[in-house]
Amino acid sequence: MDANATTPLLPEVMESMRPYWMERFGNASSIHLAGQQARAAVDRARDTMAEFFNCHAAEVVFNSGGTEGDNAALFGLLRPGDHFVTTSIEHSAILEAARRLADKGVEVTYVAPQPSGLIDPEEIRRALCPETRLISVMLANNETGVLQPVEAIGQIARAVGVFFHIDAVQGAGKVSLDVRRFGCHLCSISAHKMHGPKGIGAMFVRRGTPIEPLVVGGSHERRQRAGTENVPGIVGFAKAAELAMESLEDGTIPRLAKLRDRLESGLLQIPGTGVNGSLIPQMLGGPSLPRSCSCGKGGNPRTSTGFLHMDGCASAGGPGPDSRTWESTNPVPRVANTTNIWFDQLEGEALVIALDLKGVAVSGGSACHSGATEPSHVLMAMGLDKTRARASLRFSLLKTATEADVDYVLQVVPEAVEHLRALSPVAAGTAG
Ligand code: PLP
Repeated sequence: MDANATTPLLPEVMESMRPYWMERFGNASSIHLAGQQARAAVDRARDTMAEFFNCHAAEVVFNSGGTEGDNAALFGLLRPGDHFVTTSIEHSAILEAARRLADKGVEVTYVAPQPSGLIDPEEIRRALCPETRLISVMLANNETGVLQPVEAIGQIARAVGVFFHIDAVQGAGKVSLDVRRFGCHLCSISAHKMHGPKGIGAMFVRRGTPIEPLVVGGSHERRQRAGTENVPGIVGFAKAAELAMESLEDGTIPRLAKLRDRLESGLLQIPGTGVNGSLIPQMLGGPSLPRSCSCGKGGNPRTSTGFLHMDGCASAGGPGPDSRTWESTNPVPRVANTTNIWFDQLEGEALVIALDLKGVAVSGGSACHSGATEPSHVLMAMGLDKTRARASLRFSLLKTATEADVDYVLQVVPEAVEHLRALSPVAAGTAG
């Protein structure tokens, strides 16, 4: 249940790589036969990745993974005095790079999501200024699975002549990538999130994009990324991409969505639970939810009547602190495998540990800094308060997940929640 952290190799991927660790171990830059065999394998893999991105083979650059791709986009394009627009729900591979660049004189604007987890393209447009050189927005959020409107953002970028990078690490293999349709100049993906090997990634770099390489040395990857090619990794990545393209066509994704939905509705039977990032709330006959709602009472979107109850939501310029009914007929687009659930009156970390003991791996969606567990920056940006953000867990299904897996999770989670709530200082109202 933690596929967004990483995925296992599919057997076909393992098999495709095997010869390139052993008998076909050549360096793709060598001119002898072994080198030519390795080069041919890399070329074939590049063609497959071009099909995966919907771009030309010459626009594919292999690297070490999503973090490198994200870093390469930002450090490769931004210089002191430039303005950079991104969002407050990006992965740390973007946020930390942006922080470094800000220290070096790049001005950074972080666009906040709506309470649903969606980024409003109009907010991106409003953030632009004449110095803006780059926009970077993720395709799918790693914690909520919410799919961002990258195509609309691409149109905005194109209209004003600004470069556009997409971190597609969590979308790749779950939705079809089409960098032409997205209108981006750069797009980063990572093999280990899609049943490929760890330590290998790829970036689409649109022809003519003036990006400075992050790693310099030899003339590999058309001088865009130096270093001896990881031939087995590249071959395995291409095999994983091939299988991912098949899985986008063969009914795997709707099957996964059905499993996720069954898991989600089963979990929502537990009292005091809700989904983070599932519905676009709209007040019946009234205005849409204010963007900067920060009350943390994100409402309980699980009501089967199709209504979302906002209890005591107050934010500057928004609706007053009364009980309101919100229409919840607009589901937020999400990748098929992810749901993020809050559980009132317990600590998410305690539930992660309790479930781990039962053999269920989930993620708290929180980062550990110097021993202190920080609530998720994504959920906080969506307007959850610290307590609810800490009490939220991400369930992300592997493509190989079965009905039996979901049955087991639905058996152990309610028991664990009940047990922890009985012990919880949060539940007892004695938490500091
Ligand atoms: N971007 C997103 C959205 C991610 O979820 C991750 C990994 O969790 C990364 C980037 C980093 O990718 P990698 O692990 O390949 O460095």
